[in-house]
Amino acid sequence: MQKIGCHLSSSKGFLHMGEEAVSIGANTFQFFTRNPRGGAAKPLDEADLAAYRAFAAEHGIGPIIAHAPYTLNTCAADEGLRTFARETMLDDLRRLAHLPGNFYNFHPGSHVKQGTEAGIDLIAETLNAVLPEAGETTVLLETMAGKGSEVGSRFEELRAVIDRVERPERLGVCLDTCHVFDAGYDIVNDLEGVLAEFDRIIGLKRLCAVHLNDSMNPIGSHKDRHACLGAGHIGLPALLAVVNHPALCGLPAALETPNDLSGYAREIALVRGG
Ligand code: FE
Ligand code: FE
Ligand code: ZN
Repeated sequence: MQKIGCHLSSSKGFLHMGEEAVSIGANTFQFFTRNPRGGAAKPLDEADLAAYRAFAAEHGIGPIIAHAPYTLNTCAADEGLRTFARETMLDDLRRLAHLPGNFYNFHPGSHVKQGTEAGIDLIAETLNAVLPEAGETTVLLETMAGKGSEVGSRFEELRAVIDRVERPERLGVCLDTCHVFDAGYDIVNDLEGVLAEFDRIIGLKRLCAVHLNDSMNPIGSHKDRHACLGAGHIGLPALLAVVNHPALCGLPAALETPNDLSGYAREIALVRGG
């Protein structure tokens, strides 16, 4: 069965997210490891984690995707900001050791006037500090839209990060459909060509998860505005072609569309029906 779900609020704990996922027909989900604007994570609730593990096993949920706060910048020019990103990621990974076998997705970061090459070096430096603590968690670089000075909108940039990492076996990529389209990859008219390029540059074996979003803007806009499935410039047929592609259909796909739970339930049914 397809692994499809959506982004859920983690404020009521893991068991609650599992129950919400089942209630909307999902068998995976994504959550922020802490307030996306930063700040301390809540103390670990061992009882909630144990209850979730049993519930997930019973209902066939997972793998799931933990999303780092999007405010982290692993390639910030300021050393203090990089230290904050590194320590937050280390803390997140130590927590995720309680839910082994899942994914930890992060935005590579923005180089902010340092240039892409310098950004790539700093991202790899952060990864080299955190990957030894990843345990059984695979850390995912998210494909980015190329808004501002974001690193990771070109497959070559993600490849360059992977090449500079000492433990690449713990590293994967999460393909965000809105972001790659916004970055200029034509998944509407040439999905095969885009996936062939991904395979040639990064390798499809690195592709571990999908963010399934339509885009409010045309191809190459670099704006990063998600739309509901079928309500944007990618359109439903192209999005269904992505999740049903033989190279991707076994991967967990999380919707990050502007929806409430009932909207997510509708979109999950739409994907399962397609
Ligand atoms: Fe993201
Ligand atoms: Fe995303
Ligand atoms: Zn986005």
